Amino acid sequence: MSDLKSWNPWHGCRKFSEGCANCYMFALDRAHGVPGQSGEIVRTKSFSKPLERDRKGYFKIPAGYLLRVNMTSDTFLEEADQWRDEMWRIIRYRSDVRFYILTKRARRMAENLPGDWGEGYDNVQLNITCENQRAFDERWPVLRDIPARHKGMNLSPLIGPIDVSRADRNE
Ligand code: SF4
Repeated sequence: MSDLKSWNPWHGCRKFSEGCANCYMFALDRAHGVPGQSGEIVRTKSFSKPLERDRKGYFKIPAGYLLRVNMTSDTFLEEADQWRDEMWRIIRYRSDVRFYILTKRARRMAENLPGDWGEGYDNVQLNITCENQRAFDERWPVLRDIPARHKGMNLSPLIGPIDVSRADRNE
């Protein structure tokens, strides 16, 4: 089975910060001859992928799998507000699968977590991606203060130096 490691319930994005300049999703859509699709934010046919079952009734995505979410979009994009609750319901239902969520829109994370999030879902890792010091200074305090069982940070595409030791000195 292909593409088991990512789940893209929606596709398309709006460029948000400096690190989006060479977004690979735009490049891939161009390579596939569908450049117009990159800026059009749409719900995909894969929306219910974690719930799909085979003929025997087993989940096609087995327990224990790690799924990277929205690798061709951003989970906290405004245009996806209409679909996010359903995404969370699927994630909650598949508590046996791990979901890796990566965003540049850190400031939208807290207000767009599910109502029963509490200290976080055990099967979800929230991650920010930072491309330079400005992005790090903006996004790291948000991630630090948000409740989550698992957190991570991705420093890419690294287009400028980042001094992570500045993190808590700035406050
Ligand atoms: S937020 Fe991510 S998916 Fe959206 S344009 Fe930027 S790099 Fe691409």
